[in-house]
Amino acid sequence: MPSFSDCHGCSLCLLSCPMWLQWRDIRFSPQGYAKAVQHGADIPEMREALSACIQCGACDLLCPEKIDLTGMIAAIWQEAGLTDVSHTSVPDSFPLSCDPAVQQNLGPDDFYVIDARTFHTRHAERVRHYDALRHATGCSMNLDLHRMAIPTGIGSLSDSLGQFDTGKQIEWLIQGRRFNRVIVENRADKTMLAEITGKPVIHVSELVGS
Ligand code: SF4
Ligand code: SF4
Repeated sequence: MPSFSDCHGCSLCLLSCPMWLQWRDIRFSPQGYAKAVQHGADIPEMREALSACIQCGACDLLCPEKIDLTGMIAAIWQEAGLTDVSHTSVPDSFPLSCDPAVQQNLGPDDFYVIDARTFHTRHAERVRHYDALRHATGCSMNLDLHRMAIPTGIGSLSDSLGQFDTGKQIEWLIQGRRFNRVIVENRADKTMLAEITGKPVIHVSELVGS
């Protein structure tokens, strides 16, 4: 299994890393973690940068060396005594999104926010489903051109430590979009999305009446 020692510094992982996009500092990126480990940095030296990761899983999909970046980050987090607070209790909403009622009740005025981490962990089997749902209903989704889900970062350790600006992330997420309603897969996203967008925000389960 490829590891941080196999990183050759191509920088592709930066493209979809929300941590790097906010910090613009290579130490705060998967590439930065890999280089730090390759050069013998220890956990205390890396701690600040490590805890800024929002654990969204996007980097795994872009690394040409197929390094299990989130797995490696999780292992170092454990060594550093950092706790993944964000997704331990987020139910997987993918089965709900497959319910025919979701397709029937979504429309062009809706903005559907996929839970990034659950999506990225099974990207290959899920990306076509969400793309088809988007095309069938005309709704917009938090998918970028690489078909990564842009995360909100809400509820992450980085968010709770003030290392990730979720307000700024949401402003970026909704920039240029027109919608009258927001549908979320992660209930933790509801409050802040409602505050920032000023639109009604519902959980996907409400589309199927459950
Ligand atoms: S999990 Fe997300 S925030 Fe963390 S390094 Fe990967 S892309 Fe960046
Ligand atoms: S994409 Fe992979 S090989 Fe390229 S810089 Fe990032 S971790 Fe290193």
